[in-house]
Amino acid sequence: MARYTGPVCRLCRRAGEKMFLKAERCFTPKCAVDRRRKAPGAAVARRRRASDWGTQLREKQKARQIYGILERQFRNYFEEARRKPGVTGTHLMQLLERRLDNVAFRAGFGNDRSQARQWVNHGHITVNGRKVDVPSYRVRAGDVIGWKAGSKQRPFFQDLAKGAGKHSVPDWLELDKANMTARVIRNPESRDVDAPLEVRYIVEHYSR
Ligand code: SF4
Repeated sequence: MARYTGPVCRLCRRAGEKMFLKAERCFTPKCAVDRRRKAPGAAVARRRRASDWGTQLREKQKARQIYGILERQFRNYFEEARRKPGVTGTHLMQLLERRLDNVAFRAGFGNDRSQARQWVNHGHITVNGRKVDVPSYRVRAGDVIGWKAGSKQRPFFQDLAKGAGKHSVPDWLELDKANMTARVIRNPESRDVDAPLEVRYIVEHYSR
């Protein structure tokens, strides 16, 4: 599946806020948003206040960029969420949070979502003991996420696992640092989403 490979700090500057796409750097003075508040590009001075449509579009783009998903797949998630009974926004966020690359990141297996996605793509991550190399794989309550046996022996991943949990691990995951695994205790709720998103704008955007 294709993904955005350009400079991610530029995306934050375009959005005008931190999206925390670069792990620890986001918490240091090196953060591009902290250093240069202005959006990138020459036409910045002429930009006006965003319209409702612009605000909704921006929020949707932010969600795509945070989770590293292209438009078509994101739209598919939305359509799936809309078909479910209940609150569409809640279902949408659940579908995004349950992606394997996101779960690996939330468990601390990667410093950011793109790194976690790389570990999945390269076959380092297992679900219930079986290798899964599909970042969009949807985890369920009860699944155990871990490392492939060969990867588990590698000092680099061991160091990573030791540091797992230094960013807060959500309470829908149970981390076992000794075994380098994380168990999904329950499906995530809206309150478990740590991304700076206004989901209602995304729903409004697609409901036009
Ligand atoms: Fe965004 Fe992080 Fe880059 Fe700051 S350091 S601009 S929060 S990705």
